[in-house]
Amino acid sequence: MANSRYEYVRQFERENFLLPDTYIIVRVDGKGFHKFSDYYKFAKPNDVGALEVMNEAALHVFKQISDIVMAYGDSDEYSFLLRKKCSLYERREMKIVTLFAATMAAAYQHIWNTKFPEKPLQLERLPIFDARAVVYPSMEHVSDYFRWRQVDCHINNLYNTTFWALVSKGGMSPKEAENRLIGTVSSDKNEILFKEFGINYNNEPEIFKKGTVIVREYQESVDESQLSQRQKQRYEKKRGKASIMVHHIDLIKNDFWDSRPWLQN
Ligand code: ATP
Ligand code: ATP
Ligand code: MG
Ligand code: MG
Repeated sequence: MANSRYEYVRQFERENFLLPDTYIIVRVDGKGFHKFSDYYKFAKPNDVGALEVMNEAALHVFKQISDIVMAYGDSDEYSFLLRKKCSLYERREMKIVTLFAATMAAAYQHIWNTKFPEKPLQLERLPIFDARAVVYPSMEHVSDYFRWRQVDCHINNLYNTTFWALVSKGGMSPKEAENRLIGTVSSDKNEILFKEFGINYNNEPEIFKKGTVIVREYQESVDESQLSQRQKQRYEKKRGKASIMVHHIDLIKNDFWDSRPWLQN
């Protein structure tokens, strides 16, 4: 860039470099999706088509950014785990979060338009995402982070499933359903669903109960710090080729984490 007398204004810029050697998790979340879902008439409590748009958009982000090793999403949010050695944009926080939010929004819009040509997106209500990045020092924090999000998915889904059963099958107004659910715990909601509506919550689709996990699946786990430059390059290539899998599975038990040691690299 050419120097000019105006360039001094650059000194006002501030940059946060995310701590090195830590796990970065970027979470994107749809802006005002409660209204968005009303506007485009999502099925309640779970619009499958809309979930598919989220999942396909997240998969696109995953494929675009090779530092992502896993992702988890439900509702209008997705969390992406970047490998510990990630040097994307020199770990500049603003660059990273804006890249994720923008890629997610662009992909969402493109995929929506392809999938629902009869429901074109209107300029007055476009799907927009915010993003934040958090760094975690250990794999224990990372796995607990994803457990936290999956528990949140479960709690919200059980609530929403019961709420909408009371409204659409039980004939209650939203206010009445809300009041009915005040102070109830999980077992109460399970009982309402089963006794009053014959719904066994356990038989609800896994994608609703557990959300969606996207993960790079490798055959082996490699400690990169032990590799020569050439071995590293070869490993990089392999990493690029690892297959990307989409699951609706449990992240709370240790199985998922124990069987994928490469996630900690
Ligand atoms: P980064 O991702 O780091 O921002 P960049 O390639 O986007 O990299 P910028 O410094 O943002 O780099 O520069 C944007 C470049 O995009 C310009 O140098 C120019 O080559 C090109 N460009 C942008 N808008 C136009 C346009 N309307 N017509 C032609 N070229 C354009
Ligand atoms: P904010 O901008 O603060 O994130 P928000 O309206 O997006 O506000 P969230 O807490 O992110 O609030 O909740 C997202 C809302 O979007 C859900 O509560 C639900 O109403 C709706 N929603 C998202 N995905 C779906 C879906 N697949 N089917 C039905 N409703 C959905
Ligand atoms: Mg939201
Ligand atoms: Mg949300």
